[in-house]
Amino acid sequence: STATLTEKDTKSSFTFNDIAGLKEAKAEVMEVVDFLKNPERYTKLGAKIPKGVMLVGPPGTGKTLMAKAVAGEAKVPFFSISGSEFVEMFVGVGASRVRDLFKKAKEKAPSIVFIDEIDAVGRSRGKINAFQANDERESTLNQLLTELDGFGKNTGVIVLAATNRPDVLDKALLRPGRFDRHIYLELPTKEEREEIFGVHLRPLKLSKNVDSSLLAKLSPGFSGADIANICNEAALIAARKNKKEVEHADFMEARDRVIGGLERKSKIISAKE
Ligand code: ATP
Repeated sequence: STATLTEKDTKSSFTFNDIAGLKEAKAEVMEVVDFLKNPERYTKLGAKIPKGVMLVGPPGTGKTLMAKAVAGEAKVPFFSISGSEFVEMFVGVGASRVRDLFKKAKEKAPSIVFIDEIDAVGRSRGKINAFQANDERESTLNQLLTELDGFGKNTGVIVLAATNRPDVLDKALLRPGRFDRHIYLELPTKEEREEIFGVHLRPLKLSKNVDSSLLAKLSPGFSGADIANICNEAALIAARKNKKEVEHADFMEARDRVIGGLERKSKIISAKE
């Protein structure tokens, strides 16, 4: 469809306030915000500003959120594409799409280009994916490498990419001057889950029996995305029951649903392998 071919040039309204936990990762991406806001500080001393930063972590740990928050904090436009979109493209479209995206990003610089699921296009070359003409993916990857190398001097474009499979990435992507910086996002600890619940409970009308610390304790192994999901699902459940407030029991029902969904998902994944 043409919809997937129109990249989103969005103003991001996300800030670091929307991200709970992930203290170290936040501190590291704050540097990127400063590169975008005060490039002279670095270039004056002859420093080369990094072009590519890889956000590495399991699904739902906030990689997209982090990239949007960088754009929001630096107040720069955010251009995004997903590596998996390229899988659906006709031969030759991937490379030209990458070219167009970078052209637009440079015109609007300083700006962020965000490539989600970069492993879909940046898998080490030579491994054939049965669902996709391998040379098409390769030409898209080559175009991406060309773009990264192309902006030699500081053009004000910083590329953030996300992956949960750093192990399969083509080494060429990780060379100095490309995605040579990695920021790791881990699944949240119990304390961090409590903080994430804090963020997602904020907009809800809650009963006094809702306790974010208890909810965090009852959701081991959950990602930020799972927690966001539980909070919204709980509110939907309470609304369906015509309640005036969202109660602890609604969160438990929501949690079981999310767990059910996760189990189904992992069954599908293991069936694929
Ligand atoms: P995927 O790898 O599946 O694309 P991701 O790492 O990019 O996932 P996001 O899309 O950023 O994850 O997260 C999904 C949603 O989960 C966010 O929009 C947000 O609502 C919530 N979320 C994830 N992590 C956090 C966090 N640390 N603090 C607050 N909310 C979070």
